[in-house]
Amino acid sequence: MTARLLDGRALARQVRSEVAQQAATLAQRGVVPGLAVILAGDDGASAIYVKNKEKAAAEVGIAGQVLRFPATVSAAELSACIARLNADPAVHGILVQLPLPSSIAPAEARALLEQVDPRKDVDGFHPANLGRLAAGDPGLVACTPAGCMRLLAEAGVHLAGCHAVVIGRSTIVGRPMALLLLGADATVTICHSRTTDLAAHVRRADVVVAAVGRARLVRGDWIKPGAAVIDVGMNRDADGRLCGDVHFDEALAVAGALTPVPGGVGPMTIACLLENVCRAAAQLHPATSAASIHSLWPAEDR
Ligand code: NAP
Repeated sequence: MTARLLDGRALARQVRSEVAQQAATLAQRGVVPGLAVILAGDDGASAIYVKNKEKAAAEVGIAGQVLRFPATVSAAELSACIARLNADPAVHGILVQLPLPSSIAPAEARALLEQVDPRKDVDGFHPANLGRLAAGDPGLVACTPAGCMRLLAEAGVHLAGCHAVVIGRSTIVGRPMALLLLGADATVTICHSRTTDLAAHVRRADVVVAAVGRARLVRGDWIKPGAAVIDVGMNRDADGRLCGDVHFDEALAVAGALTPVPGGVGPMTIACLLENVCRAAAQLHPATSAASIHSLWPAEDR
């Protein structure tokens, strides 16, 4: 068997074009969706991510702004900025680019993320949004897991009744991923660094989502023939090449569907972020009625 490759770039293009239509519809109603990104410090990778988000936002008609702060910024300064953005009616999505500089203590960083108005929390990291997802009433959903769900839908994977194994339990990927799969009626096993015999769990899975951060951890002989495998991992191997958490060549010969790295989950994350900004704009703006908001999304996504 050779797995069907799930092309995240192509699907992301499709999602972006849907988002561009949503943004145009909102603009016709007098609402230009607005995204504000807080970038603190001089982390090179963060600067590239933010630039990509800014460019992607502009391409679909979202008004983007980047608020830059030096690595010496205080939590109070960032807090004041978030308060301003929370109150700004032209800003519908607020994103605090992580990691924050070392001048911000971990507890302060948590408090800053929690200060973002949950209605503008387009990353879906706020405890209120994670809590709503856990309660089965999703608000804004974390972009990477949302992208994984779109990839599974595109692959035609029937989730109800299947056994899904999520490797990783972070609040930004693993946990929301498991909750989304549960919401789609899958039977979900969450694995983590203390799981004993990870391979045995994975071997029973119809769907595997690997969100670990360990290059090529998941081997081909762990995978049930025909399983759908979503590789969230973004790692550098010993030769400095980008690779996932799944051994791609081995998995290709066994899985039914497989995402490549790069070109799988990554492009979907930004596309789903843009989608969240339009969703937040529609839900926040008083000029758009509930009926017109809902007409922007397919029934199954509401
Ligand atoms: P994280 O916060 O470090 O979480 C990693 C998770 O993997 C933890 O739950 C950890 O368990 C678990 N884990 C670590 N080693 C393990 C092992 N040997 N066996 C089983 N589980 C193990 O990472 P993250 O933020 O969720 O990201 C995970 C990966 O996805 C990274 O490679 C990251 O770069 C990538 N990522 C990609 C995108 C994208 O857009 N493509 C977006 C976000 C993240 P414990 O909880 O027990 O520590």
